[in-house]
Amino acid sequence: MDRPRGVLLDLDGTIYEEDRRIPGAAEAVARLRGAGIAVAFCTNTTRMPRRALGERLAAFGIPAAPAEIVTAPAAAAAWLGAEGLWRAALYVAEATLEDFPDVTLDDASPEAVVLGDLADGWTFDVLNRAFRQVLGGARLVALQRNRYWKTADGLSLDAGPFVAAVEYAAGVAATVVGKPSAAFFALAVAALGVPRDHVVVVGDDVTTDVRGARAAGLRAVLVRTGKYRTGDERAVTPAPDAVVDSVARLPAVFGVG
Ligand SMILES: [Mg+2]
Repeated sequence: MDRPRGVLLDLDGTIYEEDRRIPGAAEAVARLRGAGIAVAFCTNTTRMPRRALGERLAAFGIPAAPAEIVTAPAAAAAWLGAEGLWRAALYVAEATLEDFPDVTLDDASPEAVVLGDLADGWTFDVLNRAFRQVLGGARLVALQRNRYWKTADGLSLDAGPFVAAVEYAAGVAATVVGKPSAAFFALAVAALGVPRDHVVVVGDDVTTDVRGARAAGLRAVLVRTGKYRTGDERAVTPAPDAVVDSVARLPAVFGVG
């Protein structure tokens, strides 16, 4: 594979799995950077601000500035700015509010409604308020629309069902700003500062990482860690540009090992 000028690395399942660093991840990132390849991180995590993700990466021996970490809340904030929507009702995890520094919180007459991860904070009243704000003309934005996720006591509703409820009631379609949206990858490419045809996306999710990257005109490498299951690479067309055992193999694949 041609040596890329920039690499976008997924976090969960690619750099770490829960509290465990993928073996060789720190060394691989250091080697890519040492070879002059720009590195940024992209994640659909909706519960942690970029600052905390940076601290987590640092604890794993991977230094990263907040600006090098693209998250769904950060993508939403960038989208709002690009659309000139400064007053918003934010239904997001409280910890991520710091990633919306330019947004004025407005529940009375917002220009946008952002639906993210409220977990058990979703109630009839909360959904009804978002519904009325959208009926009042606010644009509807979703950080992601996953159906469910795995929690300690079993599968649990993710943000998607609540996004669908507001969409259905108001008769509108939400703009999704997290992976695999093209808007997300455009922001991540901008964070790298490298033209998109020189960028490779690396992730463990064949749908959000690989298919999303390919749809955005980027090359994609699938790693066999995290949520990867045997045969995943055959589930998407076009197929990933490469499939590797883990992020540790990247320097060798890119010819800088
Ligand atoms: Mg992942």
